[in-house]
Amino acid sequence: MTDAPRTPVRLRPEIMALPAYKQGRPAAEGGYKLSSNENPFEPLPGVLEAVARAAAINRYPDAAAVDLRARLAERYGVTPDEVHVGAGSVALLSQFIDAAAGPGDEVLYAWRSFEAYPGLVTVAGATSRRVPLLPDGRHDLDAMTAAVTERTRAVLVCSPNNPTGCVVTADEFERFMAAVPETLLVLLDEAYVEFVRDAAAVDGATLLGRYPNLVILRTFSKAWGLAGLRLGYAIGPVPLLDAARAAAIPLSVTAAALAAGDAALDAEEELTARVDILVGRRERLSAGLAAAGLWIPVSSGNFVWLAAGAGTEAVADLLHESGISARAFPPEGIRISVGEEESVDKLLSVASEIVRILPEGAPARRIG
Ligand SMILES: *Cc1c(COP(=O)(O)O)cnc(C)c1O
Repeated sequence: MTDAPRTPVRLRPEIMALPAYKQGRPAAEGGYKLSSNENPFEPLPGVLEAVARAAAINRYPDAAAVDLRARLAERYGVTPDEVHVGAGSVALLSQFIDAAAGPGDEVLYAWRSFEAYPGLVTVAGATSRRVPLLPDGRHDLDAMTAAVTERTRAVLVCSPNNPTGCVVTADEFERFMAAVPETLLVLLDEAYVEFVRDAAAVDGATLLGRYPNLVILRTFSKAWGLAGLRLGYAIGPVPLLDAARAAAIPLSVTAAALAAGDAALDAEEELTARVDILVGRRERLSAGLAAAGLWIPVSSGNFVWLAAGAGTEAVADLLHESGISARAFPPEGIRISVGEEESVDKLLSVASEIVRILPEGAPARRIG
C-alpha cells in the first residue's frame, strides 16, 4: 500500500502489507445493496423485542453463552461443550486458525473463496496455501488432498463456496476426510447451509461425532438475518473447541446478540419461510440469467457468481448505473446477492446488456 501514511514504529511487515477488510459497496440512492450477502428482510418484531430486553449494557454478557449453547446442543444432538459461540463465524475462524497455525505452518483453502480467509491466516503468522477452484467453480478436493504436507495445520472447506455458490458433495467430503490425516484440523464453513436444496451436498450436521479433527462453522448472519449483531457457532470435538475458546477474545459476544439468536430460533418457522422465498428468487434469477445467454454455476447460497473475467469492472459499473451494488473481484468475476424481489427484476432487465459487454473468453459467456 504505497499511499499509506508512514510511521517510525516497527510493525509486522506482513500486517502492514495486508489490505484492510473491504466491505461491500453501499447501495446507490434508491438502489439495492447486493454486495454483502445480507438478508434483505427487516428483522422480526420478536427479535427486536428480545434485543431491547437485553438492555443491561452496564453488565458484561454471559461469557459462556450457556443458554444458547444448550439450545444449539439439543438441536444438533451434541453436548453443550461441543458447541462454541463467537462474534460471527469470522471470529471463530480466526480462533481456530490461531489455535492451529503459526509461523512456518500452512493453512490450506480453495481459491477463490471467502475473502476473509487470507487475512486471518496472515494475522496468525501462518502461510496461505491456495488450491485453485475447478473451472466450474467447485472445490478441487483431490488437488487439496494432494497439497497437504507436513506443514499443513488447518484446511478450510467452504460449502456452499463464497463467491461461486457451489457445494462440496457429501461423497467428496467424506473421501477427503478419509484421505487426510486425523492430526489435521478441518474447518467446514457452512455459512450458507440453510440455502442448500441439493440433496447431494455435504451437511456437516450429519457428520458430527464421526471425526476427531472436524469442526463445522455456522452463522446467524445470513439465513437468520442477524449480520449486524455478530453471532456464529462452531460444533465439534471438545478439545478443539477448548483450543478455540483459549484463543478467543473473552466477552466478544454481546447479550443482545445472544438474546437475538435465541429469539431467532424461536421464530424458526417464519425465518425458514423467508429463506424459502430467497431460494425461489435465486432460482428465478439464475434461470433468467441463463435464458439471457449467461453461464453461471448452480448456486446453493443467497448469491450468484458471474465469471465476467476481464469484463468484471465493466459489469460492476453497468450494475452500479442501474442502482445495484454487487461485489466485484476483478479480473475473475462478480458476486451478486439475492436481495429484494424488485432487485431480481432489475438484474434481469440488464442481463442482455451484460451479455453484450462481456469480453470474448469470459467464462460467463459460455452457453451450456
Ligand atoms: C458471511 C460468511 C461468514 C460469516 O460471517 P459472520 O457474519 O462473521 O458470521 C463465514 N464464512 C463465509 C464463507 C461467509 O460468506
